[in-house]
Order: sequence, then structure tokens, then C-alpha cells
Amino acid sequence: MNKRMLIADDDVQLLEYYRNIFEQDDSLDFFGKKRAEAPIAVHTFPDGAQLVDFFLSEHRRGERIPLCLLDMRMTNVDGLTAAETIRAADPEVMIIIITAYTDVSPSEMRKRLQDDIYYVKKPFNEDELYSLVTSLLKNWNIRQALRESEGNYRRVLEQSNEGILTVDFQGNITFANATFATMFGYDLESIRGRSLFDFVDDANANRIRERIARRIQGISERYELELIRKDGGTVSTMLSASPMYAGNGSFSGSFCVITDISESKRAFEFLRKAKEETECANQRLQKSMEESLKLALKAESANKAKSEFLANMSHEIRTPLNGILGFLELLHKDGRLTLQQQKYIATALASGDTLLHLINDILDLSKIEAGKMEISVTEFDLPDLVNKVTEFFTTQAHRKGIQLTCHFAEGTPAILRGDPVRLRQVLVNLLGNAVKFTEKGEISVRVSQDEEAEQTSLLRFEVQDTGIGIAQDALPSIFKAFAQADGSTTRRYGGTGLGLAIAGQLVQMMGGGIDVESAPGKGSIFRFTVRLQKRRSPSITAEPRVRSSLEPGNGAFRGEEQEQKPFAALRILLVEDNPVNQALTTAMLAYFGCRADMADNGLEALEKLDQKRYDLILMDCQMPEMDGYEATAVIREKEAESRRQGEERHVPIVALTAHALDGDRDVCLMAGMDDYLSKPFKIEELRSILSRWLIRLEVHAEEEEAGRVETPSCRSANT
Ligand code: ADP
Repeated sequence: MNKRMLIADDDVQLLEYYRNIFEQDDSLDFFGKKRAEAPIAVHTFPDGAQLVDFFLSEHRRGERIPLCLLDMRMTNVDGLTAAETIRAADPEVMIIIITAYTDVSPSEMRKRLQDDIYYVKKPFNEDELYSLVTSLLKNWNIRQALRESEGNYRRVLEQSNEGILTVDFQGNITFANATFATMFGYDLESIRGRSLFDFVDDANANRIRERIARRIQGISERYELELIRKDGGTVSTMLSASPMYAGNGSFSGSFCVITDISESKRAFEFLRKAKEETECANQRLQKSMEESLKLALKAESANKAKSEFLANMSHEIRTPLNGILGFLELLHKDGRLTLQQQKYIATALASGDTLLHLINDILDLSKIEAGKMEISVTEFDLPDLVNKVTEFFTTQAHRKGIQLTCHFAEGTPAILRGDPVRLRQVLVNLLGNAVKFTEKGEISVRVSQDEEAEQTSLLRFEVQDTGIGIAQDALPSIFKAFAQADGSTTRRYGGTGLGLAIAGQLVQMMGGGIDVESAPGKGSIFRFTVRLQKRRSPSITAEPRVRSSLEPGNGAFRGEEQEQKPFAALRILLVEDNPVNQALTTAMLAYFGCRADMADNGLEALEKLDQKRYDLILMDCQMPEMDGYEATAVIREKEAESRRQGEERHVPIVALTAHALDGDRDVCLMAGMDDYLSKPFKIEELRSILSRWLIRLEVHAEEEEAGRVETPSCRSANT
């Protein structure tokens, strides 16, 4: 608290007296209490001129003096004149005039000093004077403090980054800060005297009126409002308004904080548009995805249709080819031909075989693509399968002077469950290629167990050759359909480029994979794995030994040493609608000395069966009138009827089918047939079917002779 006070009186004794009043001594304190506040700092002057000089010099230094006590009558400068001079320098200074008699009236004094003037008449009561002085000092200090804090608030308002505005109940602007002015393109001066209505259009004017009414009700709120700039442009604002009250509690106006949200609105609008555009793009994407899906489905079904067409086509081609090859084979076996004729026929047979091979590949690939290739599960002997495939290529390898070996690693299981037909197909392809592309050196097949799980076994096969090898850049596409390492190899080696594609798909279907390691001029190693099911009973492992093509007795073809006519006594019914197949099968049977009766369809077969008993029925599956499945069902039904009457009958039925797409083996067996021969079949295949059923018939005949009862596993109708 500023407690400085100047006193001027030309009575020096009186000056001393004033000091005594205002600079009170602690030792005189009646209650012995410590004075909490600093004492009044008194400066005394013997005349008004000296006081004025001191006051002005302090004022220049920035030091303020709150109160001056002046004697009215002084010789040099009187009290009133001194007061006027110092008031001119600091209008807030408090003045007390001490007067003995009123030579100047109080109203005159007020007029000259513009209020806030106190005069005390002599003789005065010193306590009264003391309390006047202290309360004036206190007031002055309070007023300064107020001014300071008001100044602080004002600075806060003026320097705020938000626009700040106060308006009265009619919307007239009572305060605006610089931010508000710049926000709307005005200078601060020109805002004065304006109304909030100058900043809105007609539509918003009504809103403002409503809002002011709410302020009068004491409601504070935030709302968005479009305000107009000096140049006519608009500013989007967020307005936060609250009511203001005067000291007596009456409504004095509204206090508004205005934030320019144009930028964030633009950003929001931009984001909204971007979101809208993204949504549109998403919709377009969704649509095009749906269309692509439709196209993909269309393409897939077109591809499927193509695959089915190819499968059907290759089937249709196989049927006449079957006829051509069959008759050529028969002709080839005719001893009456000249050597030249035999050569021609051998060439025709080789070409036919190549064609058949190609058609089989196309059929397989089409079946895989149409999703109709099925992997069956039957128990088979792995070493037997691998050895047979190796043996098959031995003669060919031998002719080229190539050694062909086969090795089973220790611990490789021997009996497994899987699809031996498809496994054989993969091996035949790889070994066939190895023999085809190798001119010297050796070819080896290695089999080992890669992984053993509780119920399955992952087997690894390696086919290694010392042949021409494959260039590195051709390796990645080697398992794709129609891919060949080198176009020129086709001319030199033949082939279609389908074999590895099929092999790759097959091993994948068997839960494995395939890859190749190769170097041109050095040779190739094809490795593949397949997952096979383990045998349920204790496992048997393959003998870890190497078989060599140079060992005697491993030749693939055993020649024509077999007896040709061991089946002469068999009574065979051939049910077949196709005349070429009829003629061919009849001719093949004749080659084995068999005579077969002929039925064109199922119905005819049933009629024939009513008239005569047969040892074996060769039954085509697809026929007009009544197909093979239906005919078999009727035959089995009739046999069941006879069995109920005590007559045991079961004629073996061997299905002849060429419709390789239908998972035929299972279908045929389920239809009640006993065996299966896929067209086109070779003479040797027919021979092994006949042998199989002849052996059963012979076993049965011996049992009959020994008077034993027939066992269900080798039943026969021929008794
Ligand atoms: P194809 O042999 O009928 O042409 P494949 O799909 O079986 O079809 O083989 C594709 C190509 O891979 C062959 O044409 C050949 O270029 C190459 N190839 C396959 N196996 C071997 C191999 N053992 N040695 C060298 N090249 C091979």
C-alpha cells in the first residue's frame, strides 16, 4: 500500500505537530500490539512551492503520491494554487485543504479542483484528521488496485484470439476487441457505435432478437451464426453468449465470445465431401467387384464347361481309337503278315498309342479343372508299385544303355492307403521323362519317409537322371500346362507339356508338392511328396535295397510265351451297344479262344440270362433301353430271389466303362458289379480279367468237387 503523504504549512511548529499525528510512535501503542502495517510516510514543506516542486519531481520519476495536505494560506504559493498544479500533473491525487476561515468557499474550491477535495477547518480534532487521512489513503490504494485488475481483464479481452463483444439489450456494441474488428474487416475505432444487427442479414436479425430475449431470461448458450464482413463476405462463427448484470443485479447486456469456424467448416465440408466421394468410390468398387465376381463366375463356369466339353470330347475320341488300336493289336499278333506289314502296323500302333496318351492327358487335365478328379483310398503295396513302374521302363532304358535303379530308404512303410493309380501316374510321367531326356548315364528312383504322423506318412520320391537338364529360366513354368523347356525339344523328343502339369496337380491333391532341380547338360532331379494314410494293422517296412535294371529277370515284357487259349470253356455274355466295341471285344475274346454271346443292351442281356447260364458277363455301362447299372441291379435282385429258394447264384459282372468322369470304379462296385475294365483296354488287360475270374471259377469247381459249401467271397453262378 502506498502511504506517502506531502504536507505544506508555513507554520513550522504546526509541521512538527502534523508529524506527531501521522508518524505515530510504536512505544505509544496502548495495547503494546505490533503495528501490522507500515506507517504513513510524511514529507513536510514550509511552503506550497517546495511541495509542488517535490511532487512534480517524484511524478517525473514515476513515483506516485496519493495524498497532499495543504494549508490554505501560505506566503509564497497558497494551498489552492499548489493543489491545482499538482492535480494538473496527477488528477487522482487526493487533496486536503486546511483552512482557518473560509476565504474561499467550498463550492469555489470544488469548481477549481474538480471534486475529490476535502477541507478541514482549524482548529481541527487530530483524531478526526488522522482517520480522514488513513481512509483517503486506503481509498486511493483500493482504486488503484481496481484499476489495475480492470486493466488486466481489459488486456485479456483485448488480446484474446477470440472475438469478444459486449452488447446492450438492444444489440448495440458496448465493447469489441481487436480480434473481432479484424475478423470482420473493421478498425477498432469504426466498430464503436455499431450494432450487432449491422453484422447479420434479415433472416438472422430475427434470430438475434430471439437470442437477446433469451439472454434477458438469464440463459447462456452456444450457437452457430453466419455474420457479414465489412466487404459483404460471410464468416461462419460459433457464438458463445451469456448475460451480464449491473451492480444492482439488473440485466446490462450480453457477453459474446465469437470464434471464426469458417476454416474448420471448410475442412469439415472437405472431409464430408471426401467421405462422400470415398463412399461413392467404395460403391463403385463394390459394384465392379460384384461385376468381376460375376465375370469370374461366368468365366469359371465357361472354363468348367470347356473342361467338361474336353472331357466328353476326349471320351468320344477314345471310343473309336479304342477300336483302331484294338484291331491293330490283334492284327499285329497275326502270324500270317509279312515283315513289312508288321512294321507298318507297329508304326500305326505306336502313333495310336501316342494319340491315346495325349487324349488321356487332356482328359485328366480337364477332369482336374472341372473338379471331377477324385483321389481314391485303397490299401496298396508301395514297393510293389514302384518296382513295377521301374520295371516297365527297364527295357527302354536298357536299350539306351542307361542303368535304372530303385532304392527304398530304411524305415519306409510298405503297405499304405491312398490312390495307387494316381501315384503310379505321377511316377510313370517322371520316369518316362527321365528316360526320354537321357541319352547316357543313369536314372535312379529313391523313396523315403519324410515325416510320420499318427495316422499318416509323408513320403518323398526322387527321380534323378543324367540327361539334357533344363535351363534355369524354363524351370518356373515347367509345371504349367503346355509348358516345355524348349520348343525344339518337342520336335526332337515329342510330348505335349501336359504331363508335369498333371503330376503337379495330382501330388497336390494327394497332400504333397513337387519341385525340380536341374542343370543343362548335367541332369535333373524331380522331387515330390505325397501324404498317404498308414495301415491300421502293424506297419510293414520296405526292404531297403537297390534294384538294378541290369539284373536278370527284370524285363518288363515277358513275351508271348503265355498260353493263348486257356479260357475256351468260359461262357461269356458281352453286353455292349457299340458295334465297333462289340466286334473288337469279340475278336479279342476269340484270340483267347472264347466265344461270347452278344446283347445290345440291358434288356436283351436279361432275356439271354433267362435262357442260359454264363460264367462271366462283360457289361457296358452306358447303353440305350436299359443301361448296365440297371441291368446289374435286376440280375442281383433275381439272384437274391433264387437264394431265398435255396439256389445259390452269383454271376460275376465286369463293368466295361469309358466314362472316366464319373468316379466309375466306386459307382460300378456299388451297383453290384464285381470288377472293372476301363475302355480302351488292351488285350493284356482283358487277359488278366479273364485269368482272375477263371482262377475263381476253378477254385470254386474244386470246392464243389470236394463237396464243400461255397464261400461268399468267391461265389459263382456257374454250377
Ligand atoms: P512333355 O514331356 O509331354 O513335353 P511334361 O510336362 O512331362 O511334358 O514336361 C514338360 C517339359 O519339361 C518337357 O517338354 C521338357 O522340356 C522338360 N522336362 C521334363 N522332364 C525333364 C527331364 N527329366 N529332363 C529334361 N527336361 C525335362
